[in-house]
Amino acid sequence: MIKAIKGTRDILPPESALWSRVENTAREILALYGFAEIRTPVFESTELFARGVGEDTDIVSKEMYTFEDRDEQSLTLRPEGTAPAVRAYIEHQLQQESSIAKLYYLGPMFRRERPQKGRYRQFHQIGAEVLGSDNPAIEAEVLEMLQFFLKQIGIEDQTLLVNSIGCPVCRPRFLEELKRALAEKKVQLCLDCQRRSETNPLRVLDCKVESCQPVIDSLPKISEFLDEACRAHFDKFLGYLTSRQIPFTVVPRLVRGLDYYTRTTFEITSGVLGAQNTLIGGGRYDGLAEALGGPPTKGFGFALGLERILLVLQQSEKQVAAGPAQLFLAPLGEAAFEKATLLARDLRQQGIRCLLDFEARSLKSAMRLANKLQAQYVLILGETELQTGRYLLKRMTDGTQREVREVEIPAALRGVAVPVSQG
Ligand code: ATP
Ligand code: MG
Repeated sequence: MIKAIKGTRDILPPESALWSRVENTAREILALYGFAEIRTPVFESTELFARGVGEDTDIVSKEMYTFEDRDEQSLTLRPEGTAPAVRAYIEHQLQQESSIAKLYYLGPMFRRERPQKGRYRQFHQIGAEVLGSDNPAIEAEVLEMLQFFLKQIGIEDQTLLVNSIGCPVCRPRFLEELKRALAEKKVQLCLDCQRRSETNPLRVLDCKVESCQPVIDSLPKISEFLDEACRAHFDKFLGYLTSRQIPFTVVPRLVRGLDYYTRTTFEITSGVLGAQNTLIGGGRYDGLAEALGGPPTKGFGFALGLERILLVLQQSEKQVAAGPAQLFLAPLGEAAFEKATLLARDLRQQGIRCLLDFEARSLKSAMRLANKLQAQYVLILGETELQTGRYLLKRMTDGTQREVREVEIPAALRGVAVPVSQG
């Protein structure tokens, strides 16, 4: 038997209905905040990620699906969405359309990681980027939007962690100090961190290896090295969060390891997730557009992991899948079946979720199937009913039945009728 590749998964009903609900809610809220969708290709030139994510990151150094095309060009399945979005922004000169571009994307990403709960090789992100502004109010607005989104889909157990990692002006002094402190404690670090402490010391701060944690706790904090402009930016950002009543914790170890990441970084975690507890990660990347060969462009964005959002939702009782059919049509005999197919079409066009029994069963087996499918009502169409034009409508919750004419069906279902869009 051929199976799905390790680290990938099929999203099946009824779980897929929950996915749609989360995605639809995200789209609605992103639109409320002025974000427009961008759809970029699933594969790009490898160089985009080497430059845009950085050679010395886990993603580029060991997680990418890279292959040579038939013309020997090196291609990579996208491991993240920011570099492609910024590439498209530069390529299509979106900065000329308006001073601030607000873009969002939604789709699969690919990283060759060790599969485990909340960590897959094909996973899905929703991400958004604000390009063209370095106003900390924009950052707070994005976090307000994320809080609104989490609340709307029913995630309450979540924590916002924030930090500032300074800028190319003030960070070098911090990196000097960090390197000095790391050199003293090198032997206590894991092998990866021993290497990072030379090549990319900032990355040591977000190492997850247990034995590195005491060392990390003792390292100098970047907050003590921020220059005046970065300090002011961060203070304003925190002020805007406070005035919006968004609770946060400042965490000095929260970093991104690359030069073009600047100032604000954040994560939203959830306690119910265990080891892979980060739901959303984001920050400011004022140097990225230039690193990709574009004009200087301020940038701020986030990406959320849909699999992890779904894991949290599936652990809470609040989740609702798409509702079961409102009406199950049970035709008895050939002529009734013909009638039922047309009736189903008309009712669906009026927004009623119908299921039709295609197997032309006995009444008994039709009722058994309707029960199994959790239909709310069953409409019985037999020989007599066809002739009189009056059908038998049975309410499954209490077994009561009544006679209805065709035109009366929508009204008879009204008490339970839900507009399709809310399904
Ligand atoms: P982690 O520290 O968990 O590896 P990351 O820093 O690599 O996360 P980002 O690149 O910031 O993650 O991606 C943003 C979000 O995408 C994460 O917070 C997470 O929810 C999700 N995510 C990242 N990698 C995976 C994966 N392999 N499987 C499922 N979700 C993922
Ligand atoms: Mg990762």
